[in-house]
Formats: sequence, C-alpha cells, structure tokens
Amino acid sequence: MTKIDRTPSKADFSHVTEWVFDLDNTLYPHHVNLFAQIDKNMTSYVSTLLQMERDEARRLQKQYYLEHGTTLQGLMIHHGIDPNDFLEKAHAIDYSSLTAQPELGAAIKALPGRKFIFTNGSVKHAEMAAGALGILEHFDDIFDIVAADFVPKPAQATYDKFATLKRIETRKAAMFEDLPRNLKVPKALGMQTVLLVPNNLEETVVEWWEKTSGEDDHIDFVTDDLTDFLAKITG
Ligand SMILES: [Mg+2]
Repeated sequence: MTKIDRTPSKADFSHVTEWVFDLDNTLYPHHVNLFAQIDKNMTSYVSTLLQMERDEARRLQKQYYLEHGTTLQGLMIHHGIDPNDFLEKAHAIDYSSLTAQPELGAAIKALPGRKFIFTNGSVKHAEMAAGALGILEHFDDIFDIVAADFVPKPAQATYDKFATLKRIETRKAAMFEDLPRNLKVPKALGMQTVLLVPNNLEETVVEWWEKTSGEDDHIDFVTDDLTDFLAKITG
C-alpha cells in the first residue's frame, strides 16, 4: 500500500548509502515544464524524419514511447536513426526556466553516501539541468541513456547495468522517480522507492500516455516536495 499519508522518518532511510535520482520532473518539479520543450523537439524530429504533420508525428512519438519506453528506442528499432543526433536535437532547449535551488542542494549534500542521476536522457542534458539548479556538484556520477545502450528504464537490464557498473548494493539504495512504472524494478531489487508527484495533483492534467494502472505496491513513499522530503529523512 502506498504510504502517501505517512511522513518519512530517518529510520526509513537509515540503511541507505546509495541515493539514486531520476532527472526530469524529479530533480525539478513538473510545473517547470522543461520537459514540454523536449517533447516538442521530439515531435519536430519525428515530423521531419518521416515527413508527417505534427499531429500524426506526435501520435507516433507517443506510440513509440508507450511501446518501447522512450520515443528514441522506437525510432532506433523502426527507423534505424542515429541516437546521438536525436539526443542532441531533443535536448536543444532553453534551461532558463530552471533556477538555483540552494535548499535542495543542501538537502542532497546532507545525504550520507553516494548520489547518482539515473536518466533516460543524456549526460549533457543532466549536466545542463542540474547545473542550472545549482546541484550538479553534489552528485558523484550520472548514468544516462547512452550508458544504458539506449535501453531505457523500466527495462530490468538497464537497472542491472547501472547497479553493476556503479557497484551499487541495491538493498542499501533509495530511488526517486516521477514515473510509477520506473520504480517497479528498483523495489524488486530491494530499494526504498519514492514517487515524486506534481503539486496540486488534482489540478494536473495527466495525459493519456502517462496514465498507469492503479497498482502501487512498489511505491514506498509519495511526495510533491523533494527538498522537504529529503530534509525530513536527514534532519
Ligand atoms: Mg522523470
């Protein structure tokens, strides 16, 4: 059962020495809407590649996202595109909507152990976003979609590769994510799992391709405020 109504305590995370964070809509909140820019760029990419109108391109983009975990993976499988070219074009965005978050930085710094960004995006995107937030220096490493051989979360193989490469003992890890499906494998690997949700959740329109089933047994905690959550478990 989701402990959405439960305040986390230090004891819940006292065994954790490996802190794993998704990037988009996790280290910065959903309402910043940075991902909307990437989303538009991906639509443009599909539209140009396949000579489609934007509406049609967007449908295909989201179909690939649903079927393959990322639009990129679908485009690689069905159209043999160059993933590096795609990542560069998708992440050609304006980061100025992200502002320095010193309190978040202090909260991450206070976590005991190693800290990672684990993203279906690129290292460059993670560095740009975390840099704009002023929190990049607090992370030990970034594991991106290139390191994952372009196989995105939630594929088991990608979590295994991450854990092996970074020598992470998963029973001592916690994972923070905004997509419920990306927490299933981490929970099975023994991680504490924390789901980030938008603030004013009731008013947030969740689009159809993000809708998930009602199962949430794999989610230990839910929060709409990462800084506050981290402060509670370190404070
Ligand atoms: Mg995310």
